[in-house]
Amino acid sequence: MDFAEAQKEALGCTKCGLSNSRTKVVFGDGPLNAELFIVGEAPGFNEDADGHPFRGASGMLLERLIGSLGLGREDVYLTSLVKCKPPDSRSPKPGEISSCRPYLMSQLAAVDPKVVVAMGDLASRVLTGRKEAVARIRGRAIPLDGRYVFPTLALSRALYVPAERAFVISDFSRIPELLASERPSTYETLNLDLGASEREPLQPGLW
Ligand code: SF4
Repeated sequence: MDFAEAQKEALGCTKCGLSNSRTKVVFGDGPLNAELFIVGEAPGFNEDADGHPFRGASGMLLERLIGSLGLGREDVYLTSLVKCKPPDSRSPKPGEISSCRPYLMSQLAAVDPKVVVAMGDLASRVLTGRKEAVARIRGRAIPLDGRYVFPTLALSRALYVPAERAFVISDFSRIPELLASERPSTYETLNLDLGASEREPLQPGLW
């Protein structure tokens, strides 16, 4: 399914039960030539009302993180594992993620980014294919399918837990070197630890 077909189909999609809890399908935003692609877990209240990803306080924090890279929101492709808001702020279930996966795959294929940031535990597990909690593998660039998958913590927690915000800020500080590097040539899943775990987190007070 190409990108245009995926977008058209998703906007009227009823493939999983989340179609009953959404107001608007939140497909994704951004240029199709973006080198940086950021994936969250699912739309929340603000995204569902607005139809665009990463709104509200989480969106403001993300914009500051993107700004710290010298980029604007409009330079980055933004989306989530599922395109419809789950009820009661719960996480999407495996079957819902699986139903929605073809849309994410179409977006990744069309944009073909160099760096995919997986925000939060679920996005990290789905996009890396690894079982470890994101807290264990955050800040590492994992070469996969000719791009780097880069797990970090969820914005929703980073907003309210200063220590987690510090780790997210620290992780984002590694992204420029990934964007400046060559794409990984291997299609194997390797774990390239860039040493983030040894770095001191930046001061959350700056944010
Ligand atoms: S979450 Fe995805 S698969 Fe489920 S209804 Fe929405 S667009 Fe369709």
